[in-house]
Amino acid sequence: MIEAVKYINKIIHRPGLRVVCYIVFLLTPYFLRSQDTVLNKHGLWIIDNVKMLQKTISKNPAKRMVDLNQQTPALILDLRYCTSNNFTMQPLYPPLKTTYLRKAAADSLSAIQKELNKLGLGIKVFDAYRPYSITEKMWEPVQDDRYAADPKKGSGHNRGAAVDLTIINLATKEELNMGTGFDNFSDTAHHAFTNLPEAVLQNRLLLKTIMEQHGFKALDTEWWHYYLPNAKDFELLDISFKDLVSKQKTKPVYVKKSTRRNLQP
Ligand SMILES: [Zn+2]
Repeated sequence: MIEAVKYINKIIHRPGLRVVCYIVFLLTPYFLRSQDTVLNKHGLWIIDNVKMLQKTISKNPAKRMVDLNQQTPALILDLRYCTSNNFTMQPLYPPLKTTYLRKAAADSLSAIQKELNKLGLGIKVFDAYRPYSITEKMWEPVQDDRYAADPKKGSGHNRGAAVDLTIINLATKEELNMGTGFDNFSDTAHHAFTNLPEAVLQNRLLLKTIMEQHGFKALDTEWWHYYLPNAKDFELLDISFKDLVSKQKTKPVYVKKSTRRNLQP
């Protein structure tokens, strides 16, 4: 028995075999990891097509990407990256009628909208899901991870688990005064910055309170950015809006014959 142990020890200590063991050890994550994701140049696992996304959703329905406009039509969508009205001064997305979030985040937004409605208020969304390749584009001019997600880590937006938003007055459709606009990369946008009129502080507090009550977390440096604390449970996605829209389309809603004639053409 002792002889056998000595023999095995001798084999595994051969230099050539040690190299092979080391390579196998390094490659183990590739084999253990499911084939649902691909490894990008920064060593991040990314889902880059709808088929893969649907596979993960079939295993875990909590990963479903929900169409915000379809689920909560009353949400105001002012998707700034579809226009040049953003810090890059150029459209980064195609024109969009909707955007997406994972189910838990989308459900929370619906609940928040309902609560705000009771106060005569509502939500305006600036951004939600963002394809990973757009995060790479945004990083170039900023290169400061207080204000833009470092592509080496990816963003909660890429996971469909972060949203940029503000509160509006339902009667006037005006945004509440939050002290700065969206994507204002200065200290004034920080939650810790309190040298602001009391009304502004109250508005920020209202947004923070209601978002936290519904499971979101605030980002210290951007009053408009909220994310799910378990965002990393969701894979980074690099799926274009076009692919997401076409593949996620649900069955058309048919209108009863009796009500059809009342509809506008
Ligand atoms: Zn954000």
